[in-house]
Amino acid sequence: MTDPRSPRPLLALLLLALPLAVAGAVLPDPATSAPTGFTGPALLSDLPEVDAEELLRDLEILAHDSMEGRRPGTPGIERARSFILETLDERGVAPLHGERFQSFEFQNRRDGQNYVGHNLLGWIPGTDHPDSYLVLTAHYDHLGVVNGDIYNGADDNASGVAALLAAARHFTANPPAHSVVLAFLDAEEMGLQGARAFVNEAVVPLDRIVMNVNLDMVSRSEVGEIYAAGTYHYPFLLPLVEEVAEASRITVLTGHDSPDLPPGQDWTMASDHAPFHQQGIPFIYFGVEDHPGYHDPSDTFENITPAFFVESTRSIIHFVTLADREGQAILEQSGRALAVDGADAP
Ligand SMILES: [Zn+2]
Repeated sequence: MTDPRSPRPLLALLLLALPLAVAGAVLPDPATSAPTGFTGPALLSDLPEVDAEELLRDLEILAHDSMEGRRPGTPGIERARSFILETLDERGVAPLHGERFQSFEFQNRRDGQNYVGHNLLGWIPGTDHPDSYLVLTAHYDHLGVVNGDIYNGADDNASGVAALLAAARHFTANPPAHSVVLAFLDAEEMGLQGARAFVNEAVVPLDRIVMNVNLDMVSRSEVGEIYAAGTYHYPFLLPLVEEVAEASRITVLTGHDSPDLPPGQDWTMASDHAPFHQQGIPFIYFGVEDHPGYHDPSDTFENITPAFFVESTRSIIHFVTLADREGQAILEQSGRALAVDGADAP
């Protein structure tokens, strides 16, 4: 493994020149959570709380055998959809401009079959810039049942979905300055189909997307490490990742995003952030190193790292809070239009 893991202080210095937008910073609840076993240099007050029990239960439900591995076109994935939709309603997350679904057709190259996929959409309107969007993505599909084995996909990617549902809880209680879109994407395992459809059909105008934060495999690391990939392409995001790394009780690493890496180690095109990146939309992808459960029937609820998962979720929500705080600077740094105050009206 030759990942460029060490921080790059020069880039951090460059970022001091960022015009920092301060409006709309969300102050987290200073209460602390149950002990997790991770004892990093925590600035606990910086990290948002999550309901650990609820988070783990959501993952367990999505990874249950009754979901049959959540393969597109099966009753199992239909059950997963129902659970996500009910949970969004229960947590008070609005549909996106009145739409809860984005349905799309695609052909799976592996089996030559045509499928209908369904992205599920939630919207937490921004208080200051409702027409600028932080798009949070997690795919909810997985591999289904293969030769009688259920591929539960607990880490891949029931974990990202459960973490987004925790973000729903957090941001409905702590409204962001920029709109937060929660996009539960279908058919990632069949070639990023849901993300491609989301971008191709411009479910939200692409030039109004501040950035994409993609979650895919965020619950399993016995060494307590998660990657925040993307700063190679968007170095102006590095200070935000470093700020999260400092507050986090787990190890937040950069890397896995450079074309100089050996084949398979550059994750730039590996998950749903890729179609956003191809449009020049900044992204950070949160995910763990491959593990023995990767695309294996042993990717079950029993094999995730619960304490790590709670902390990764808190760190990711904290990152989104920082991205919201710096949203206007991110738009500017990536060469796109600033939202003009007063011009955000529908
Ligand atoms: Zn995945």
